Amino acid sequence: MTRRRWIAEHWDEATATLTGDQAEHMARVLRAQPGMEADVVAGGRVFHAEVAAVQIGKPESEVRLNLLAELESEPALPVTLVMAVYKFDRMEWAIEKATELGVAEIAPVIARRTEKHLGEAAGKRAERWRRIAHEAAKQSRRSDVPIIAQPEPLAARLRATATGTRIVLAEQERTTSLRTVVQEAMESAGEEMPALEIAIGPEGGWAPNEEALFDTNGWRAVSLGPRILRAETAALAALAVIASCLE
Ligand code: SAM
Repeated sequence: MTRRRWIAEHWDEATATLTGDQAEHMARVLRAQPGMEADVVAGGRVFHAEVAAVQIGKPESEVRLNLLAELESEPALPVTLVMAVYKFDRMEWAIEKATELGVAEIAPVIARRTEKHLGEAAGKRAERWRRIAHEAAKQSRRSDVPIIAQPEPLAARLRATATGTRIVLAEQERTTSLRTVVQEAMESAGEEMPALEIAIGPEGGWAPNEEALFDTNGWRAVSLGPRILRAETAALAALAVIASCLE
């Protein structure tokens, strides 16, 4: 599991300081004490750090940490996008944007309403998708490149063991929002970053039997609002919501 990452407002070579909401959360909710360990981003680099001092309120909360060792930075977002294959040009655009947004893995799946010829050609397209992700990772100065899994039938993906909270973007869902489920996952993950799997349907949407399959496999159906988004728009919107919760 990826430890939660705190983004320092102030830092120097040896220390970093959190103020504002982050300091409040660490001080009051997590009751941070000197000696508590944390991962801190200071100046775009990630450090393993240790709390040195905690000040609550008066005039504002502040947590000072000693920077112990620089870490290899992992994917900014511990998110796997399970994307039903759809028109390749749009899908490739989504792969590039999802990479810029920090996705850790993209798992293309063949859904019931994936156009037949696209499903048949997807396996041969995966290498090109990996090149696109690599270019986008370099351009956005990521220190890692997202994994592009080999396309597989949706049912195989759903049967695979869960690697975290599994969320299906369901355009007909009206009560549960993506933000609510992400915040619940954060609560249960405590100091750690929750691992999330987000499934996005093809242009024709999920078939009824797929919705039932998601449900029996414990995927939470969530809404991105009342409008119907293109799959590539839904991918970006979902990553933006998750990033706004986690970062
Ligand atoms: N079947 C839809 C329709 O009624 O036209 C089209 C599916 S939409 C183009 C592709 C996928 O994007 C959906 O299967 C869903 O995963 C996601 N999506 C689009 N809009 C959404 C919304 N408002 N809430 C949640 N997911 C959405």
